[in-house]
Amino acid sequence: MNKQVSQERTPSPSSGKRLKVVGLVVLVLVLIGGAFVIRQRTRRQPATVSVESEVLYTCGMHPQVIQNKPGNCPICGMKLTPIRKQPAAGSRSPAPVRAR
Ligand SMILES: [Zn+2]
Repeated sequence: MNKQVSQERTPSPSSGKRLKVVGLVVLVLVLIGGAFVIRQRTRRQPATVSVESEVLYTCGMHPQVIQNKPGNCPICGMKLTPIRKQPAAGSRSPAPVRAR
């Protein structure tokens, strides 16, 4: 009956190694979880932040498309490029190419 007991015996060095690996995995999980929580928290209030940071996003093909947050152009689906709000250099910036 006691023949299989010897197989369950684990040598001490390998168990220590195993503990280290488990600790590492737990650490990584905690880091990922923390990053996830922080990401969700920052996502909760985007409206007020966008006003302070004067960065607008526009499409290279459609300058009339201007958003206050990164995303894709609703017309062509291109990724919007960030532009800085210019301080009253003119009511209208001359659009070089007008896409129809
Ligand atoms: Zn576009």
